Amino acid sequence: MFRHVDTYLESLIEEERLAFYQAVCDFGEKEIAPHLLAWERQHILLPDEAIAAMGAMGLFGLTIDEQYGGQGGDLMDLVLMGLALGYHSHSVAITPGAAASLGIRPIQLRGNEAQKSAHLPDLAQGKRMFIFGLSEPGRGSDAANPQVTATRVHDKWVLRGEKCWSTNAKWASHIIVHAMTNPEGNPGHRSTCFLVPMDDPNVHYQEMQGKQVWLQSSTGSIALDQVEVTDDAIVGEVDEGFKVMVTTLNGGRLFIAALALSSLAFAVDRCRLYAQERIQFNEQPIGRFQRVQDVILDMDIALEQGLTWLFHLVRQYNAGTLSRESAAKVKIECTRRTSELYTLAMEMCGGIASMDEFGLIRHAHDLFVCRVGEGSNFALKTLAVKPLMPSIAHLLQ
Ligand SMILES: Cc1cc2nc3c(=O)[nH]c(=O)nc-3n(C[C@H](O)[C@H](O)[C@H](O)COP(=O)(O)OP(=O)(O)OC[C@H]3O[C@@H](n4cnc5c(N)ncnc54)[C@H](O)[C@@H]3O)c2cc1C
Repeated sequence: MFRHVDTYLESLIEEERLAFYQAVCDFGEKEIAPHLLAWERQHILLPDEAIAAMGAMGLFGLTIDEQYGGQGGDLMDLVLMGLALGYHSHSVAITPGAAASLGIRPIQLRGNEAQKSAHLPDLAQGKRMFIFGLSEPGRGSDAANPQVTATRVHDKWVLRGEKCWSTNAKWASHIIVHAMTNPEGNPGHRSTCFLVPMDDPNVHYQEMQGKQVWLQSSTGSIALDQVEVTDDAIVGEVDEGFKVMVTTLNGGRLFIAALALSSLAFAVDRCRLYAQERIQFNEQPIGRFQRVQDVILDMDIALEQGLTWLFHLVRQYNAGTLSRESAAKVKIECTRRTSELYTLAMEMCGGIASMDEFGLIRHAHDLFVCRVGEGSNFALKTLAVKPLMPSIAHLLQ
């Protein structure tokens, strides 16, 4: 199926990457799109067969080195996968997307060789999944100060508390727990990351009920009831866990921006086709109205702009030069602009936009997570504005 976004990708991306993107689009059209409505109406999470099929395609190992059985790709490949699968469903794209950008990344960034060789081969095939345990019921934006604690008792650490909003929880083999280890330490140097197996008898997972976004994605709360681990479970250094988590989030934010642009790509196609097909007033298409044209053109401009900016930053990320502020800004702008345009896109199409089979309403709901997740846009603005007012940076909230 032709997607208008492909015309931009052809000029922005190398041929080899484009072939990969097209293969994932084909997979999405054949293996995902035909089932989405049924999954949604039956309220089921992504079936195991769909996860296995994505594993067989190598989507979980895109960013894992070949020496560990991965594809040896980089964030550009992950972003292209997000654009390809997110076009129909964020829930589907986020499953390998969060696994790679949030679950695996802390181990790649700061894991030791024993942790890498023990886990990366199975993670690459989707046989294992790690989840990113940053958020808690009482700590979202204030993630630097976790209420989950890890206390040293003899030669062990004892973890207590609760994590929530953990994407991929149902399928996870391990959770990376961000826990307070030194409450008296300097800000940003109080917490440590631990790799905890989900099958530990003192780890209790529950799927969060009632979520109306990312419907096929598993979102769990994880209770840690005096879970004992040894030093081997530490990812990175003691009291330096926050740095591991925020560095991980830089790549995750670019992936979220890609998901927002995948929604925009879908809306451009849905609206431009509908504007040509919907006939009224003397048997003329509604696309002849200038206000309808405006909506389509504004979306198209935002799509081309967003892609150009995002790919520029992804290349910086791959080169190790991306700033936290740039990652925050592209996430803020792509998610808010797409969300604003979605209101107009739905209005442009009329009542049919409220129907699930038309597709727009799914994206409109899912875009909410893009605005709030991986750092809410409101909170990220404070981070992004600091370099603009350095002399009062310490006062900004
Ligand atoms: C579907 C879904 C999946 C998720 N997956 C994961 C995951 O895999 N792992 C994980 O750890 N977390 C995950 N999250 C959690 C997500 O990262 C948090 O929701 C997010 O960080 C915001 O935290 P909060 O919801 O507790 O909001 P709060 O921190 O309570 O903030 C509420 C609101 O207050 C305002 N606000 C807060 N701080 C500021 C500030 N400094 N400046 C201005 N305004 C502010 C903003 O409007 C913000 O939206 C997921 C969330 C959702 C919805």
